[in-house]
Amino acid sequence: MRRKLVAGNWKMNGSIAANALLLAEIKAGLGNAACDAAVCVPAPYFAQCQALLSGSAIALGAQDMSAHDAGAYTGEVSASMLLEFSCRYVIVGHSERRAYFGETNELVAQKAVRAIKAGLIPIVCVGETLAQREAGRTDVIVGEQIDAVLSLIAENDLSKIVVAYEPVWAIGTGETATPEMAQEVHAMLRKRLSAKNAQAAMQVKILYGGSMKPENAKELLAMPDIDGGLIGGAALKAMDFLSIIRAA
Ligand code: PGA
Repeated sequence: MRRKLVAGNWKMNGSIAANALLLAEIKAGLGNAACDAAVCVPAPYFAQCQALLSGSAIALGAQDMSAHDAGAYTGEVSASMLLEFSCRYVIVGHSERRAYFGETNELVAQKAVRAIKAGLIPIVCVGETLAQREAGRTDVIVGEQIDAVLSLIAENDLSKIVVAYEPVWAIGTGETATPEMAQEVHAMLRKRLSAKNAQAAMQVKILYGGSMKPENAKELLAMPDIDGGLIGGAALKAMDFLSIIRAA
């Protein structure tokens, strides 16, 4: 049995005041969660969120990191910096980074491997656009995205990643993949992971992301290969985030 993970992706949202309120509400309502929970926050708020989450069951995560260790990379944030603030997770290859910041499959794979080496858990995002889905290319696109990571990662490290399937057309749009549509891609992903290391593939959590909300979380999370959610919009509302955690 894979323990589920519900991770919030705050994206470029928040303020010192808003974060304090949101995390206080989440902590107060959390109770004994049956799943793992995390929030991936903007880098300037690591210290604040580390302090607010200390002693709670909610882990801290980042939304991106550099593929480099240290040095002359203006604006970048390294894995070791994330670790200094007790980050446990780091999202890599979110579709917004791929689309707006030119991140390639290869760069995403390098970041994932660097994260593992540092002791972080990368949440590797993959997903197709609407045009790609309509052209029947979902498996090819998502397959290429995951294969880039599989070609770089050591066999023994495969169990150390989390994968998030996020169809681009479902992100922030209110459109969700049906549980069956998502399950199909999740099963395909697990098969690919299996070809690298069958035992590890059974342990890897594959999250669904893209307009997951209280109304659809239960159905999605009931599918055999959906092991949690990467939550954008609904992670900014304590009640919604908590109700997805309860559904998991
Ligand atoms: P959404 O975002 O839940 O707002 O669709 C998910 C994500 O981009 O990780």
